[in-house]
Amino acid sequence: MIWLRALAPTAIALIIAALLAGLVSDTMAARWLALALVIQAVMVTLVMARLHFWAALPRQRELPQVGGVWQPLLDRLARFVKTDRESREQLAAELEQLHRAVDRLPDGLIVLDRYDHVQWCNNAALELHGIVGSGRPLHHFIRQPEFVSYLDGSDYSRPPVLPLASRPGRLFELRLHRSDDNHKLLISRDLTEQARLDAMRRDFVANVSHEIRTPVTAIGGFAETLLDLPLEPAQQREYLGIILKQSQTMQRLVEDLLTLASLESSTAPPEAERVDVTAMIRAVGAEAKALSNGRHTLTYRLEAPPLALAAPVELESAIRNLVINAVRYSPNQGRIEIGWRIVGNEGCLSVMDSGIGIAPEHLPRLTERFYRVDRGRSRDSGGTGLGLAIVKHIMQRHGGQLRIESSLGKGSTFTLVLPANRLIAEPAPTAQSPAVTEPAAGS
Ligand code: ADP
Repeated sequence: MIWLRALAPTAIALIIAALLAGLVSDTMAARWLALALVIQAVMVTLVMARLHFWAALPRQRELPQVGGVWQPLLDRLARFVKTDRESREQLAAELEQLHRAVDRLPDGLIVLDRYDHVQWCNNAALELHGIVGSGRPLHHFIRQPEFVSYLDGSDYSRPPVLPLASRPGRLFELRLHRSDDNHKLLISRDLTEQARLDAMRRDFVANVSHEIRTPVTAIGGFAETLLDLPLEPAQQREYLGIILKQSQTMQRLVEDLLTLASLESSTAPPEAERVDVTAMIRAVGAEAKALSNGRHTLTYRLEAPPLALAAPVELESAIRNLVINAVRYSPNQGRIEIGWRIVGNEGCLSVMDSGIGIAPEHLPRLTERFYRVDRGRSRDSGGTGLGLAIVKHIMQRHGGQLRIESSLGKGSTFTLVLPANRLIAEPAPTAQSPAVTEPAAGS
């Protein structure tokens, strides 16, 4: 009904003019009409002036309240202005949120215009490439020739991986994406860790192939000789013995690889069972005695309460690896002592030998897969180079650690450290007194 309200003042002015013409005179009616027109023109001008004033700064100023016939129109305009302001505020808040999220990304992001000038970048890119100001060419900040030719080319599928001066020792992949005809996005991602893992994987495959090739070549060679040459029975037996030994080495290697793979693939800590550690030590000790065949003296020093919470198969495998190494790396008449005691609040299971010992520079690398101090000696004694890596993994899964002390030519002590929460104070029902140091027992 706005049109009715708009017409009402004009209609009233005309009715008054008609009454004046009929009752007073035409001149009076004409004067009245002129006056009414002037009043309306002034009012319209005032409203226009106020609207004009508002329209100069519509976001800062409130819409004027003019009343009369204009008010419903302005109310509608006010509603539109309000919703427009609200959606703008919401958009700004969302944009701010997006900026903050993008700024927290570890990857550097740079938006480039069609001339490869920096339009925008996040904090990470700012720090990585030292971007200052916007609108400057990207090659002012990244000057490496490999990247410049990648940027100038049209195939972005092979991004360069480069070191950056801002992060010494690390490697970054700088990958370009076309976001539309006029813009590109540069993502700088730290690939150091991935490159390290890739190198480890390559090394691992190369090592495994190498380890397998040696016994396979020996087995093939001796089998061929046995087939081709008319050998004496004694020599035949010798060659068959070598074939058997090499196939056992391969079997051990495969078993160790499978053990390592299963330890690495299961992230959950092992099931904690009550394990009689002293009984386990004695059982493994008996195996070691058989392997030593009288060449070494094996003693026990079992002083801690016998029970612990551990995965029995894993703990036994860790002890076995250490004890067998002690036998293999100790000369005849060597002494080996297996100890189990509490130090501080930790359980320490140590295997001490009077063997060949290890030079200090090798100690930090001993638990790496396939790391050996003396490759030939390890192989000759049937080693796979994986034993200590397996032990380390097992201890980590138990929340403990493997400690190694050694002195070249004098001997070594390998200690499995179990944390306090894996120890049980009470003695095992079948165990003897827990704090008894056993006398040296000949092998
Ligand atoms: P391997 O199967 O070669 O013994 P390990 O992982 O068990 O592999 O041990 C890695 C290396 O650590 C061995 O090759 C050997 O050089 C050294 N090592 C391990 N135990 C002893 C020890 N008790 N005395 C001297 N050296 C040892």
